[in-house]
Amino acid sequence: MIIDCHCHAGKGDAMTAPWNTDASLEKYLRRARAAGIDKTIVFPLFHLDYAEANEQIAKIVARSGGRLIGFAFVNTQRDAGRIFSMVSHAVRRWGFRGMKIHGFEGMPTREACEAARKLRIPVLVDVGGRAHVIDLFAKEFPDVNFIIPHLGSFADDWRAHERVVEQLKRYRNVYADTSGVRRFDYIVEAVKHAGARKILFGSDGPWLHPGLELKKIKLLGLAHDQEALILGGNAIRLMGAVRPQSPQLEESINWQHKPASQLANSNAYQ
Ligand SMILES: [Zn+2]
Repeated sequence: MIIDCHCHAGKGDAMTAPWNTDASLEKYLRRARAAGIDKTIVFPLFHLDYAEANEQIAKIVARSGGRLIGFAFVNTQRDAGRIFSMVSHAVRRWGFRGMKIHGFEGMPTREACEAARKLRIPVLVDVGGRAHVIDLFAKEFPDVNFIIPHLGSFADDWRAHERVVEQLKRYRNVYADTSGVRRFDYIVEAVKHAGARKILFGSDGPWLHPGLELKKIKLLGLAHDQEALILGGNAIRLMGAVRPQSPQLEESINWQHKPASQLANSNAYQ
């Protein structure tokens, strides 16, 4: 099963850039299907109210016929004091499986990490190149799993990539996704030094092409079992401990789901 662990969805409200205006999935879903991607983790784009944005995601996930999995976005500064209630609502009511934080708005706070710990959900945290903060929160919360998108920097900061490769090795609870990493050899280094078990395939759709991002993983030329970890095995393992687990939640994830290619005509996402 191929899982894209990083995609945005819904509408933003600031409307000053593509990433806070519109993350419609029509093109993304067509491209992902053609590329053989079975499931996609989605979360809002930048938004002024994440309670509202997460609700949008819940509706999009509910209509996806099991193809999409929700993560709840929180702004650790603006949402301070309500993070657990926001995220636990998303987990319990909508079956979300993780939390998204963007360091541009606020790095992971103790409150956010404690919420993740209680709910046993992974935290996908974009540190925006400031990889040094990973040393702090990863050590303070060794029982919370953190996924660092873009190997630490969407802006191609090689220092951040190098530091994250080190951190992947050093901390059991630090993982990285491959979305938007331009310098291919940093992905090679990450797999070589930290192992395929620490890397997750992500596309940063819908703005980046999921087929193109997936090709990067194929080009690593790994043994099948190693490649399978990056393409979905790691994501499944990290989401597997989410609390509470209920038959309904498990059904909503349905890991034995038919491959995307067999889902044609089953929902609105053709
Ligand atoms: Zn992103």
